[in-house]
Amino acid sequence: MSDEELTYEMLWDCKFCGQKKLLGLTHRCCANCGAPQDPAARYFPPDEEKVAVQNHEYAGADVTCPACKASTSQRAKCCTQCGSPLDKGIAVQTRQEQVRDEHAQFVAETSKAARREFGGQGAPPPAAPLPVESKASGKSWILALVAAAALLMVGLLIVVVVWKRGASIEVAKVAWERSVDVETMTLDRRSAWCNELPAGSRELSRRKEQHGTDKVEDGKDCKVKRKDKGDGTYKESKECTPRYKDVPKMDDKCDFEAATWKKSRTLKQNGGPADAPSWPKVELTRPGSCMGCEREGARAEAYNVTLVDIKSRSEDTCAFPENKWRAFKVGMKLDAKKRVMTGGLDCDSIVAKP
Ligand SMILES: [Zn+2]
Ligand SMILES: [Zn+2]
Repeated sequence: MSDEELTYEMLWDCKFCGQKKLLGLTHRCCANCGAPQDPAARYFPPDEEKVAVQNHEYAGADVTCPACKASTSQRAKCCTQCGSPLDKGIAVQTRQEQVRDEHAQFVAETSKAARREFGGQGAPPPAAPLPVESKASGKSWILALVAAAALLMVGLLIVVVVWKRGASIEVAKVAWERSVDVETMTLDRRSAWCNELPAGSRELSRRKEQHGTDKVEDGKDCKVKRKDKGDGTYKESKECTPRYKDVPKMDDKCDFEAATWKKSRTLKQNGGPADAPSWPKVELTRPGSCMGCEREGARAEAYNVTLVDIKSRSEDTCAFPENKWRAFKVGMKLDAKKRVMTGGLDCDSIVAKP
């Protein structure tokens, strides 16, 4: 997003007579000694010294004459110094784009040529070498360590799951179990957002509470950019992006009572292979849908085989689908696989042949 865009003159210093702050577009030659402008000597002015260019028509960056190295506007077909055609001319070097925060200021900079000429005074002191190398290698060393640790963990997990050894086991017990949950209607006191209360609930109280945040625009962040056009002028533009802040969003929170079915007890029925599996008899103390009434809940069944390791005498219980479970008989000796790291029995490895 570009709010405004204006063109200003670059400045340049004459390296022959020392004249400072000549205008890049207006003064193609030094106003003092007449020496031609060196495009390499151009620089951005400080904010308080910028000179606007009115109705400037941009024809492209200046070109350097292939014959005499003088620079000329692209408007000229031939070099103004030696008359050579300019179609093979090279665009002059431009200065690096400047960017600043809207409320900061662009400060004065010296021309490249001047710095070269009077090197030492204006030149910045040589920068101390940064300890980039050691810092980076230290960081990557930690990263490598973390990666190695993660790899080790994954490897260990695979070993725990996959590494198995053979074992001889004996069937110690074959049993089924069936269960039925009994649920009781209870008055449950909870809280929730008031617009999300379950049907039939009774509101007890409400209060304001924070319910997430809203993103709200909170001003703009603007940057001012200066782009060297290469013809003695530069373009200054302002680019803004909206800034956002999080604002707490308030909502109504309700305490409410609602009738809820809750598991209150579980009925169980057990048996061995000789007994036909059956469901426990469900006797409800108060059937119906009143407060304190009971109803039947979820049903579950399991067909278990208790297995003993013949060598270590350790016990494990495996659950099987009913048809597979029927093949197990107490006293049966079988081959199985045990996980080496945990000693757990791999139930999937056990098959009883009828
Ligand atoms: Zn001069
Ligand atoms: Zn020339």
